[in-house]
Amino acid sequence: MRNKKTVTAILAILREMYPDAVCSLSYDGVPFHLLVGAILSAQCTDRRVNEVTARLFPEYPDPLAMSSETEEVIGQKIKSCGLYHSKAHALVETSRMILSDYGGTIPNTREELQRFPGVGRKVANLFLGEVYGIPAVVVDTHCGRVAKRLGLTNSDSPLQAEKDLMACVPTEEWIKLGHRLVAHGRALCMARNPSCMNCPLKEVCVYARNGKRFDDRSESNPQLS
Ligand code: SF4
Repeated sequence: MRNKKTVTAILAILREMYPDAVCSLSYDGVPFHLLVGAILSAQCTDRRVNEVTARLFPEYPDPLAMSSETEEVIGQKIKSCGLYHSKAHALVETSRMILSDYGGTIPNTREELQRFPGVGRKVANLFLGEVYGIPAVVVDTHCGRVAKRLGLTNSDSPLQAEKDLMACVPTEEWIKLGHRLVAHGRALCMARNPSCMNCPLKEVCVYARNGKRFDDRSESNPQLS
């Protein structure tokens, strides 16, 4: 794991690079719609989800409208997101549970959110942070990859990576951190051929150092480890 000084340096660079990083799922401020988009995002790109939800949201403004629809009809409308049978079931059943178990208000604890089909820890954390401002780290594939390359975790497990990030990053940075790591994973630190030469993090990056993915190593700061 990285020392405190290095973590501070990494966070400062990320803040400077992505000051306004936000959740890349589009939603209209309606919490239910964020949950819908997040459920649809499993094994699907956010871009595709956003295309589908742009049509879905006006038709289904709330859990009542969604729970009144059949899974077959919903399935046809979300087909391009993949896994549409299970996602349609998750959307209808989650809507039904929001109404029957919570009086129409989506709960604000991870445990309760994870009761909904299609809602795992990642979606629950996203929802808690975005809707309720409750600090939580969202570890998706981009976030996990970048965090590991930066040495903020040694694990490929999203849960362990989340714990490692929570242990080394101040609580008030948790929500934005996930968005910034995702933004960096898309902009420069792609799964294949990360653009280390052009990356402002290269001096503090374990992957770049170990992989010798940039040539100006003479500039590296030995105080950062
Ligand atoms: S230096 Fe390379 S591996 Fe490290 S964060 Fe930047 S792009 Fe990713």
